[in-house]
Amino acid sequence: MKTIYLDNNASTRIAEPVFKAMEPFIREHYGNPSSLHRAGQAARHAVEIARTQVADLIGARPRDIVFTSGGTEADNLAILGTLAAYPNKRHLVISAVEHVAVHALAERLARENYRVSFIAVDTQGHLDLDAFEAAIDDETALASVMLANNETGVLFPIPEIARLTASRGVPLHVDAVQAAGKMELDIHALGADLLSLSAHKIHGPKGVGALVVGRGARLRNIFSGGHQERDLRPGTHNVIGIVGFGAAAERAGSGIEAFSTRVADQRNRLEQGILDRVDRASVIGDRDRRLANTTYIAFETLEAEAILIALSERGVCASSGSACGSGSLEPSHVLKAMGLDERIAHGAVRFSLSRETTDAEIDRALEIIPEVVNKLAGLCPATMGTGN
Ligand code: PLP
Repeated sequence: MKTIYLDNNASTRIAEPVFKAMEPFIREHYGNPSSLHRAGQAARHAVEIARTQVADLIGARPRDIVFTSGGTEADNLAILGTLAAYPNKRHLVISAVEHVAVHALAERLARENYRVSFIAVDTQGHLDLDAFEAAIDDETALASVMLANNETGVLFPIPEIARLTASRGVPLHVDAVQAAGKMELDIHALGADLLSLSAHKIHGPKGVGALVVGRGARLRNIFSGGHQERDLRPGTHNVIGIVGFGAAAERAGSGIEAFSTRVADQRNRLEQGILDRVDRASVIGDRDRRLANTTYIAFETLEAEAILIALSERGVCASSGSACGSGSLEPSHVLKAMGLDERIAHGAVRFSLSRETTDAEIDRALEIIPEVVNKLAGLCPATMGTGN
């Protein structure tokens, strides 16, 4: 049975050219980039090429790139590093629908003597900009918001948000982990001071990412160790991962417009096809202002978990909200923040496409998904769906 992988917001397959770029660094070029000898310098050179490739993806300078172990670490470094740089400011502003990398850290900080404002979104997933503006005060050290939501794909208007933060002299961190490679990105056009990226969402390897530290950003180191990455991320470089990240970033930056047009067509065909074939299915979040590759569909009265297992048995990989959050029956904090009825939230399944998704896969998915869901709906009368 062929797998139809529609969970690309969780992770993507390593692209062939990315794998090829990494291969020599697995066995041949094993020097430490901090070493002065030729083996070390070869590795250093490769890291610097990758730095330029990643910087080019978002219009930054190579020296702005701080390589990390992924998006989670980039988010943590942005927030904790900024708070450390402004010890007298103990207030953080985030949206209520941030990825857990930001959300869970903010919850922890709120328990540890910081004030955190979690700004509400509406049922479409849009940020309440008036509340955002009103939340900023003289104690605010940082605002942290995502560009694209990992569950719904809904986009926040970052340039508008950046104008609000800049007018109050508050730095802005943007989690662009899901947006990268799916839309044109320029850190200056966005107005972000700090920006997080992750390689495994753009057909690169897992366990590597970057925090982009823009010109005006003030950041103190939160780790102790060597002097790598301007002291902000000590530790021997993950050369294999960084080289792969660079190659993936270069690839992700080319042909974005053509990709997003094509993938939006495929996504729309999948989405409409499911809505046409399944009763009581609806799309969660704004259908216009969202990532081209994502659709989040609620199958009313069904449990997403049951759907995912049944789909997996037929070769279709999808996800219920954040992959990291799956396994629990609680609706995600994103769905809760959007105020969705529990009967809808419990049956929310996310399908996310990639550059590798084919039209034939969409055709096949359109045969399998309605069949699986309609069968489950037949098995589960409304009362059994959510247990209430
Ligand atoms: N931020 C967002 C919006 C994400 O979707 C993810 C991953 O799902 C992360 C951060 C965390 O990235 P990583 O898996 O590289 O730690």
